[in-house]
Amino acid sequence: MAGFWIRIAPTGCVYGSVHEEHVGPLAEDAHKEFTPRIADRRREAAEGWRHELVGREEWDRRAMPCLLNKCSHRSYQGRPLADLPLPEAAK
Ligand SMILES: [Zn+2]
Repeated sequence: MAGFWIRIAPTGCVYGSVHEEHVGPLAEDAHKEFTPRIADRRREAAEGWRHELVGREEWDRRAMPCLLNKCSHRSYQGRPLADLPLPEAAK
């Protein structure tokens, strides 16, 4: 099956995708593709970034809105989630 690796921010928003054929079946290799330095990968993993293998249908549903900036996820600024304003505070 030719799938896609998608790169998912701690907010649930998809920030990138790459063909499975290009990186292979391991999530670690997909992460490496987006984030070459191991120190950065460790930091991202601790922050909650994930890499998931999805099929075409799931890609359309989950990744496309994000990659076209049409999703309703919060933007990820590289800050801990606790630092983001709560809805009450944002009014
Ligand atoms: Zn999104």
